[in-house]
Amino acid sequence: MSTLEIRNLQVSISTEDGDKQILHGVDLTIKSGETHAIMGPNGSGKSTLAYSIAGHPKYTITGGSVTLDGENVLEMSVDERARAGLFLAMQYPVEVPGVSVSNFLRTAKTAIDGEAPKLRTWLKDLNGAMAQLEMDKEFAQRNVNEGFSGGEKKRHEIVQMELLKPKMAILDETDSGLDIDALRVVSAGINQAKENTNSGILLITHYTRILRYIKPDYVHVFMKGRVVEEGGPELAEKLEAEGYESYTGAAV
Ligand code: ADP
Ligand code: MG
Ligand code: MG
Repeated sequence: MSTLEIRNLQVSISTEDGDKQILHGVDLTIKSGETHAIMGPNGSGKSTLAYSIAGHPKYTITGGSVTLDGENVLEMSVDERARAGLFLAMQYPVEVPGVSVSNFLRTAKTAIDGEAPKLRTWLKDLNGAMAQLEMDKEFAQRNVNEGFSGGEKKRHEIVQMELLKPKMAILDETDSGLDIDALRVVSAGINQAKENTNSGILLITHYTRILRYIKPDYVHVFMKGRVVEEGGPELAEKLEAEGYESYTGAAV
């Protein structure tokens, strides 16, 4: 059983006009096996939250804490965070020229486990994860994300999640740009990975439709760098009906 605790997290970025505060005190606690949906409009700071937890150097932590099972995540390097069991599926996955999917995944798995996976079980696991995500086997030989469609990039992110078996997975708009069939396949992959590993999931999304496939235990409404309302799955239905406009007048 693992717990990711985010307390009063404050984050800024440096811009041409000086430092800009993006997160204004975020509190979240995620335990193994729990799915938390963070829903908020564009520009509210959702990706900032995801990258800050993962350790992207662009973001400066100006206050608060992030711990995983009591360990200070903010003092860890990006690699240490991954080895500790944190996983980020990026909103815009990046190309890795000259590195095949197969090599990339095996290298990542080796780095996280501290030893190379046995070849036989590895090929079985890799093929199994790719089949789960309905990706053709030939993708293993392609360079990471090079020429991948939006949907293929998102499938590849979830193949990683299946193989790396994180304690906590942060999925940043994994649903964006997916057509309905891809959304179903990707959601099934996330549900399968979660079932295999009992991961905690922070599911960042702009839309409610993925929540038809991935049932959140908790929903947090995110506006202007803060959680402004929390509840159960019924909160997503309220958002579907009323949109984010109903929060614009909120004291945020
Ligand atoms: P979301 O993921 O919810 O759409 P982001 O975390 O990507 O939001 O962005 C949060 C805010 O940070 C936005 O207002 C965005 O314009 C701002 N921001 C991000 N990067 C920069 C930058 N380099 N310069 C100025 N503002 C930025
Ligand atoms: Mg955005
Ligand atoms: Mg974003």
